[in-house]
Amino acid sequence: MPATELFDLSDTRVVVTGGTKGIGFGIASVFAQAGARVAVSGRSREGVDAAVAALSSAAPGRIAGFTVDVADPDSCRALAASTIEALDGIDVLCANAGIFPQADLSTMTPTQLDEVLDVNVKGTVYAVQACLPALQASGRGRVVLTSSITGPTTGFPGWSHYGASKAAQLGFMRTAAIELAKHAITVNAVLPGNVESAGLEEMGTDYLASMTSAVPLRRLGRAEEIGYAAAFLATREAGYITGQSIVVDGGQTLPESPDAVG
Ligand code: NAP
Repeated sequence: MPATELFDLSDTRVVVTGGTKGIGFGIASVFAQAGARVAVSGRSREGVDAAVAALSSAAPGRIAGFTVDVADPDSCRALAASTIEALDGIDVLCANAGIFPQADLSTMTPTQLDEVLDVNVKGTVYAVQACLPALQASGRGRVVLTSSITGPTTGFPGWSHYGASKAAQLGFMRTAAIELAKHAITVNAVLPGNVESAGLEEMGTDYLASMTSAVPLRRLGRAEEIGYAAAFLATREAGYITGQSIVVDGGQTLPESPDAVG
């Protein structure tokens, strides 16, 4: 019997929203390492070009990049069309683009609330809708959402709107998983803890130090470590998993008190 390559992602066609830096770039680089063809996307043209150049050095000819604003459904449709043209289809959508500006509940403006919900919640829905025909045509479509521990499991001052958005992604996921099951499309989520990224660095060194001390594994996560979980959910072998979430947080959500971390 010929050896079968388990967890093979070679030639899988993947689009990553918010794939130009941080966690999305980590996800894209894991898929590229695994032999997939990958389209990265973000709002900034320079960011897209830099990510394509960085990923292409190890995966020449297998990387594409496009600008997108996921809060705009037309822009999501254009991203899907460009990706289909470049990669000849889409098997996997990693709906990862997200923002996490802080705003205290007592002073949060409707504009601040809308901005977070537009990108994190509506952007997820628009990206999935735009890629749906291609995922259906794939016959083994996969959607992997980047949610967070913040919202579904934990809270943090200034992030009530963000937490609501990340929990909303999971509510969306469960019904989407049921609706799309008839097309053999699975919908799952990865819930990162605190992961080294440009966005997180903007929170400042005090925040990073306090988060590191709250993690039993004693370090922040690396973007690739979110990518490994996303890649697993995208494999054929994960085809019977849908509507589920994987927490990748170094154990951060386990301690009952700071003393428990030691
Ligand atoms: P990041 O370093 O700020 O990167 C965000 C990415 O999303 C960039 O590629 C950015 O590119 C893109 N983006 C932002 N708004 C967009 C929009 N409207 N349309 C399209 N692309 C957009 O952030 P990150 O830390 O990697 O976070 C990525 C995801 O992980 C988010 O969903 C976040 O909620 C989640 N997460 C992060 C952490 C963490 O510790 N870092 C923890 C839990 C969950 P442009 O700026 O060029 O648009």
